[in-house]
Amino acid sequence: MVWDLIVVGAGPAGAATALGALAAAPKLSVLLLDRHDFPRDKACGDGIAPHVFDLLSAVGVTGLVDDWTPVRRFVLTHGPVGVDRLMARPNWVVPRAVFDQRLVQAAQAAGAQLVRRRVRNLDVTADSVTVDDLHARYLVGADGAHSLVRRALGLPPAAAALAIRGYAPTPAARAASQVIAYGGGRQPSYAWSFDRGDGWSNVGYGERLVAGRPHPTRTDLLAQLEALLPGATTDGGDWWGHHLPLAGWSYRPRPGRVLLAGDAAGLINPMTGEGIYYAIATGLLAGRAIAEGHDAGSRYRQLTHRLLARHFRHTALTARLTESRHVLDAGIRAAAADQRTFDDLVELGLADGLITGRLLRGLLARAAPG
Ligand SMILES: Cc1cc2nc3c(=O)[nH]c(=O)nc-3n(C[C@H](O)[C@H](O)[C@H](O)COP(=O)(O)OP(=O)(O)OC[C@H]3O[C@@H](n4cnc5c(N)ncnc54)[C@H](O)[C@@H]3O)c2cc1C
Repeated sequence: MVWDLIVVGAGPAGAATALGALAAAPKLSVLLLDRHDFPRDKACGDGIAPHVFDLLSAVGVTGLVDDWTPVRRFVLTHGPVGVDRLMARPNWVVPRAVFDQRLVQAAQAAGAQLVRRRVRNLDVTADSVTVDDLHARYLVGADGAHSLVRRALGLPPAAAALAIRGYAPTPAARAASQVIAYGGGRQPSYAWSFDRGDGWSNVGYGERLVAGRPHPTRTDLLAQLEALLPGATTDGGDWWGHHLPLAGWSYRPRPGRVLLAGDAAGLINPMTGEGIYYAIATGLLAGRAIAEGHDAGSRYRQLTHRLLARHFRHTALTARLTESRHVLDAGIRAAAADQRTFDDLVELGLADGLITGRLLRGLLARAAPG
């Protein structure tokens, strides 16, 4: 049998690929392959932006996290500088063991077949793709940060950050909030505490890796977390570290029968480490491009360019600028001074926002040292 579409990886990007394809062409044969059974855990801060649910509702998937408590308070600090405000729209903090399973079930309900299999080989010809002993017209690599499909295409790894997460009881002071505390190292480097709303928080620490410098160990990462959010590691458990492939200045998918989505494409926001939105967005677009039939690679490139090209230029620029403590502090002060500037910053960090004139003016007004 030749499948219309095989998707390697059934995380958010893979499930969204199946959903995007089947929403556009319900009769397509879609095979989702994952090396794990679901539910499966994934190292993550579990923060899910509301934009994710906007995208999913457009393909008929609603109510996925209705039984979880949304969070609106967002606290951002860098030493003595800080902002504490309500976000314009609530975020969710839902363990990936829950969210990813529900998403993959939605893909199955739409008609995708899920099979547990660790993919090891890939062969691409002009007319088809062979995945181990399976054949398809199109393949989407949604196999995460250490993507085998990306390597098989000969693409270099994306720039990366390394982060560790755990679960700890939520202290009263950090309840009903998403807290981010920037550290003193090379930015972006920050600790987080995201309240799940069920008495537990996802806590962690991550930093950008620097070529030529030793990478932080698990002990280093946990020490940074404890230093920035005292007490966060005391009763914590389930620690799990993982790489985050960061988006660069531009995203130019290659034409062809093999498309990449989510972390496999190297699409994590370099300012914030958020990746679920991009995984869902690019997965849906990859599926849609394939369902449309003709020259899916070029169509995917066009669709992703429209949605993300300017955004990634702006996040790359912001990530670069906020390597300076002065700029980082100026950004936090500008967000503290004005709700709409804060809202702009949240959009830039969590979804597809841009550096607005307001954000720029706020930054410049507060950028002067002293
Ligand atoms: C510590 C940490 C904290 C983070 N916090 C946040 C956050 O709060 N919010 C946010 O939006 N993002 C966060 N991210 C990023 C987010 O986790 C990723 O961007 C997101 O998981 C990407 O989804 P994906 O579907 O592309 O990849 P994944 O979720 O990694 O899914 C890939 C799937 O592919 C499967 N797979 C891999 N190789 C194979 C193979 N050879 N054969 C078959 N299957 C295979 C895996 O089993 C997995 O199920 C964080 C990341 C880390 C590491």
